[in-house]
Amino acid sequence: MRIGAIEAGGTKFVCGIGNEQGTIEDRVSFPTEQPEKTLAQVIAYFQDKQVEAIGIGSFGPINIDPASPEYGHVTTTPKPGWSNYPFLGKMKEAFDVPFGWDTDVNAAALGEATWGAAKGLDSCVYYTIGTGVGVGVYAEGKLVHGLVHPEGGHILTRRHPDDTYEGFCPYHGDCLEGIAAGPAIERRWKVKGSELPADHPAWAMEAFYIGQAVAGAILMLSPKRVILGGGVMHQMQLFPLVRAEVQNNLRGYVSASAVLADIDTYIVPPGLGDNAGLSGSLALGLNALQGRG
Ligand code: ADP
Ligand code: ZN
Repeated sequence: MRIGAIEAGGTKFVCGIGNEQGTIEDRVSFPTEQPEKTLAQVIAYFQDKQVEAIGIGSFGPINIDPASPEYGHVTTTPKPGWSNYPFLGKMKEAFDVPFGWDTDVNAAALGEATWGAAKGLDSCVYYTIGTGVGVGVYAEGKLVHGLVHPEGGHILTRRHPDDTYEGFCPYHGDCLEGIAAGPAIERRWKVKGSELPADHPAWAMEAFYIGQAVAGAILMLSPKRVILGGGVMHQMQLFPLVRAEVQNNLRGYVSASAVLADIDTYIVPPGLGDNAGLSGSLALGLNALQGRG
């Protein structure tokens, strides 16, 4: 099988070709510019690739309700040209194949459940902590859509007592994304997160915030695994700090070994590493081809 995958991010688009085993055979990347310009490059890439289906995991918010006239649109983004842009429709005009279409983080959750850290499980939650914070939810063997799609990056958070940074979310100020995404770390400490030493207090504060969100997700969704990805989670020292915060928040109330003795194998990095996004889009394409779209 030859399946096309598009990881449509706010800063770059990654396109690739893969198969039903999850192997990525080829990939290219373009900066995200005006939609017409970016999609022209995407379409040119797939033109001679003879793909049987294409999966798109997109930055959002996006419309994923097949009954809506705006299905397949990017909805309310500040990215120039993309607000209300019929992304999926433009791709369907160019290629007569089944399409999978979902958020970038739902795609990553599906990829991890198909080939990665949640393989064989029927539920997981995937967080990306990068330029923004996003959450994908896979439950009872399906990606959760609901009213629009989960937006767990924008939950309200209890402030760390030592944190005076006001937060950068244009909608909420100090929601989770506003105080815990990469740009928040950089603005709070006046240096890029990647340049802060592993024992800097920034990481305990970061874990305080992520730990609240993950404890909330465990209480609300009862996922069988929690996967933390994105650029900020390259700081591996965050994992033990987040696990400790989660246990501190739950106080033993959730009586499952996964959140007690076995938490090291419960809150984990992506099994697919930095391929989680593209592999997830590949999994969306595979599902569309097999009629599970
Ligand atoms: P995006 O979210 O745009 O898809 P990333 O997941 O790479 O991309 O996230 C980019 C953000 O992560 C930036 O704010 C960057 O400063 C931060 N980041 C990237 N690498 C690291 C690192 N090693 N340590 C801490 N922060 C990082
Ligand atoms: Zn917000």
